[in-house]
Amino acid sequence: MDCIFCRIVAGNIPCYRVAENDDSLAFLDIEPAAKGHVLVIPKQHSENLLDTKPDTLALVAQMVHHVAHQIDVTLEPDGINILQNNRPAAGQVVMHYHVHLIPRWNDDNVMKAWRPKLATKLDLNEIAAQLRAAAG
Ligand code: AMP
Ligand code: ZN
Repeated sequence: MDCIFCRIVAGNIPCYRVAENDDSLAFLDIEPAAKGHVLVIPKQHSENLLDTKPDTLALVAQMVHHVAHQIDVTLEPDGINILQNNRPAAGQVVMHYHVHLIPRWNDDNVMKAWRPKLATKLDLNEIAAQLRAAAG
């Protein structure tokens, strides 16, 4: 097994466990962006959102919701970012589907997710029409 998160699920390497059920596991990110940075993963391996079954995504989302409350009551952050990278171009490094929960405090400067610099150059009508026309 060459997937590091599958090895964590199997108990072959340790993690800082935060929550667990039959389908998903939540543990601390070892290179945290902020105090209480948690990863939530499905126990069954998939690479990213695109190859993960919708039912599994729903189970992970329930765990994300649970952990968000754990973070909120315990660390009392001013906000929480939920983010998820798909494929290296989007910043994915570990190829086992995972969701980041990053607690945020006012003016912490941890990150700004994007700059809206393209909006004025794009034909939003055309893009929305293309996406609506896509099958599936
Ligand atoms: P991503 O860029 O979305 O693929 O994020 C992968 C995350 O996994 C990074 O934030 C890493 O710090 C984290 N990570 C890698 N190995 C481990 C590990 N053994 N335990 C906990 N977090 C890890
Ligand atoms: Zn895996």
